[in-house]
Amino acid sequence: MYAPAGVKTSRDYPIPDNMKAWVLGDPGELSLREKPVPVPKKAEVLLRIDAVAICATDLEIIYHGPPALIRGGMPHNQNFTPGHEYMGTVVALGPAVDEYRIGQRVTVEIHAGCGQCKRCREGMYTACHNYGLNYGDVDKGHRANGFTTDGGFCEYQVNNINTLVAILDAMSDEEATLVVTAGTAMYGLTELGGLVAGESVAVTGPGPIGLLGVAVAKALGAQPVILTGTRDNRLRIGRDLGADHVVNVTKENAVEAVRRLNGGKGVDYVLECSGAPNAVNEAVRMVNRGGKICLAAFPHQETPVDIAEIVRNNIYVYGIRGEGKSATHRAEAFMSQKRFDATKVHTHTFPLDDLPTAIRYAKDRVEDAIKVVVKARGVSAAQKVAAE
Ligand SMILES: [Zn+2]
Ligand SMILES: [Zn+2]
Repeated sequence: MYAPAGVKTSRDYPIPDNMKAWVLGDPGELSLREKPVPVPKKAEVLLRIDAVAICATDLEIIYHGPPALIRGGMPHNQNFTPGHEYMGTVVALGPAVDEYRIGQRVTVEIHAGCGQCKRCREGMYTACHNYGLNYGDVDKGHRANGFTTDGGFCEYQVNNINTLVAILDAMSDEEATLVVTAGTAMYGLTELGGLVAGESVAVTGPGPIGLLGVAVAKALGAQPVILTGTRDNRLRIGRDLGADHVVNVTKENAVEAVRRLNGGKGVDYVLECSGAPNAVNEAVRMVNRGGKICLAAFPHQETPVDIAEIVRNNIYVYGIRGEGKSATHRAEAFMSQKRFDATKVHTHTFPLDDLPTAIRYAKDRVEDAIKVVVKARGVSAAQKVAAE
């Protein structure tokens, strides 16, 4: 029976000694194994994972490796469990934790910075200088679950209390997994200055971050918000989430369309979420002079950038990693106030045991899948649940 020294548990939430966990072998190879249930340390809790969303970055990690960094190396064949967009119920408290109670539902941010480097002290814990140093005698307390430490494709995981976001009972498990996605969009807009009310914003790339970027920009008062992409079904969801205009770039020139839709001049901000090789140069031409661009996605290869255009026009370019500066809390506030309906990007739910099927749906966009969620309980083994 799970009863580690110094850890508070409750009879209401009995915890087994071992759990089911998906483990990454060779690239693309996942197998369901048994692992010991991890033990929360100081400032950590143990979560029973109730739902996990699959992210494009999970697919990168599973099939290619980076940006995961396990013991300083590739994540393959290291007994590593991926998955980072999860939510669950607090079932055990590490020593001295009284900020959360057992039984509380929470969703999680990915990154617990070391808390002691310059960037962590600035709230930029996703850019922690001790990134990945959480093993053996170089353990700096940094964790990025599903990137540098075990993640959420399992039944239980430990999380630093700084990564927890309390959620209302009214918020479904599936919706709660989307807080970190909306939080990433919120972080991008925060880094651009945050005050986007009345400012024009273009969002390029209608993946989950781009779609929720539209929703967050609109909730922050941006006007107009223009979404560009290649798939009409996703652009339609962008409209539902508040986009004033959508542009299908297979039918129209993206730069010309964005400029035309903003009264002939470029927009104030671009949130780049496509990772397309030409995306930076297009963004540079979409903004007006002095405008700002936030890059939230990346192409696989190095790409040439028109620096002269950036310099001549005094354009600001930012890169963001994940969800810093407590942006998830601001995103959750919008979601709990129903300022937008993030569940519009959730399309499918599968049981945890069917993770490979869920991954295939996410990767191959089967049935126009966008956000695919897996759950350890409450979904019957044979059935997939398409969101309404
Ligand atoms: Zn993600
Ligand atoms: Zn740090």
